Amino acid sequence: MDKSTTQIPISYWEIQKKQRKVSALLFLLLLIFYLLTIGLISAAVLLSLRLFLPAFKLFSSIYFYKYTAAVFLLSAVIAMINFFQARKDGVNYILTNLRAYPPDPQDRYHLSFLNVVDEMRISSGLPQIKAYVIPTVNINSLSLIDKDNIPTVVVTEGLLAEASRDELQAVVAHEVAHILKGDTFLLTLICSISAFYEKLMESSEKERESYGADVLTRSSRKEARYPLIYLTGLLSYLLIHFFITIISQNREFLADATAVELSRNPLALARIIYKAQIANSYLGDSTLFTPLFLVPPDSRDITETTWSKLFNTHPPVRKRLKVLTEMSHITIKELIEGIRAQEEIRKNTRPEIKSIEELGRERRELIKNLQERATQNLDKEKIWLIKNAQGKWEGPYTLGALITLPLFTPAIRVKNVQENQEGRAREFPQVRFALYNQLKNQPISQDLFNKCPLCQSVLIESLYEGVRIKTCQICQGRLVRMDDLEKIFARKELNFSEKLKAKAKLYWEAILNPGKKPSALFPKKLLLCPECGLQLTVKPFSYYYLIPVYKCYHCQLIWFEADELEILQILVEKQEEINSGGETCNFFV
Ligand SMILES: [Zn+2]
Ligand SMILES: [Zn+2]
Repeated sequence: MDKSTTQIPISYWEIQKKQRKVSALLFLLLLIFYLLTIGLISAAVLLSLRLFLPAFKLFSSIYFYKYTAAVFLLSAVIAMINFFQARKDGVNYILTNLRAYPPDPQDRYHLSFLNVVDEMRISSGLPQIKAYVIPTVNINSLSLIDKDNIPTVVVTEGLLAEASRDELQAVVAHEVAHILKGDTFLLTLICSISAFYEKLMESSEKERESYGADVLTRSSRKEARYPLIYLTGLLSYLLIHFFITIISQNREFLADATAVELSRNPLALARIIYKAQIANSYLGDSTLFTPLFLVPPDSRDITETTWSKLFNTHPPVRKRLKVLTEMSHITIKELIEGIRAQEEIRKNTRPEIKSIEELGRERRELIKNLQERATQNLDKEKIWLIKNAQGKWEGPYTLGALITLPLFTPAIRVKNVQENQEGRAREFPQVRFALYNQLKNQPISQDLFNKCPLCQSVLIESLYEGVRIKTCQICQGRLVRMDDLEKIFARKELNFSEKLKAKAKLYWEAILNPGKKPSALFPKKLLLCPECGLQLTVKPFSYYYLIPVYKCYHCQLIWFEADELEILQILVEKQEEINSGGETCNFFV
């Protein structure tokens, strides 16, 4: 291997010097680009004017100097705004767009990511590296450099869940290699510059949407006002994409080579690139940031033809794997066999989780009794009636349910049947106290706080696949933060019993045939949130997985009844298998 291509730059100072050169060059290119676009468009407009005003001569000297100066000034101003805006906000825009968040040191997957980043920081000699995580089960990574020249390494929850420690090291090493080579700086800047147009279009679309009623007439006027934005947006997108394509294909090989130098483990890098390729690796909803990723989302389709070389930001994965496997003297076939074997071992050592039906008769009797008693307790608190728009009394409700009702306002008429009093809601001290607690984010009822909404046993904080959740030890219900769900779906620490899998299948069939009275499978009551005490809303888990679950939008929590979380995990895993096109799946057919 050519030694000069894999040498790591000696000092951080040298990298920064290189970055300054790159920015100057990029600014120059941007300026030329604007000169050409603005020059061409304005010349076309002026020349067409000449058809109507024969006296107007563009190329007479007085006009021409003024015209050239105006084009130059306008281009310089736009290029400068574009460039400095990109430098200032680019990284934040990309991170927000990908919904990235800083790792949580309390989470052991995140902690090991932080440790690996720190190891690589030390061995690469960089003064600082920030870390970010993207909440998706898909497998990918990227690096960025922010306006203060601090590099950032970003990985997905899916990658953290799937990668062994040496594979994680290899990924971080690959990203650090991009940082050291200056690719990250260049690509961050290019992507930020083109993101400028995306932002511009987004904001013009938003403006249009916010017009509401007379949207049709207004929108056509807007279209007419923004053709320039659309045109330049399209042009710049093509140009920048082409530019990235040419520079970044070779850079992937160089980064792989440098990563091997840093982590000394070509096989680990090959394994994780392969895993990312067969898994789903889509990130965010924009293809704009593709050049930044470890593997592009559509990597399976990249071939070695000239056509594909022109239009892809990454070289074919197979070629990268070939180089890496040759370094460790094995074939790609042996690599894949190795990954399969590793996968098999992992699968066999996971503890198995059972369905509630497998817990034994006595336990189920206990749950039933507790739930009945809990329902009776709650019924005693249903003492509130509310007057609807038709002037009829609705209810009875518990206090928590009452103030959650959409028609509830502090001025609405309510009735307390226990005290047999009627009046405006705000006149009742209980209601005022509940509203005050809600405002202060305190539980409405201390008695029900942190108790299972179904059986009123105390909820116990526990770790589920490394994620902190609350569980009812009696009825197996689970309280999970909405933000933590992608982590749980990404991580595979558990096997599910055959009975659970059969139950998942039943649920899936009920979703597919909504006419076949799915309500019998999903009986839902009215429950109160164990955190805030407001009534939980029964909503489908997601557009795709229509299993109804209890949600509290106030606390951003989901209450899963026994087996529901596991069933969703089984369904998500099956879907992933189908997406990866791996084993044929006879589960859903
Ligand atoms: Zn319970
Ligand atoms: Zn709540």
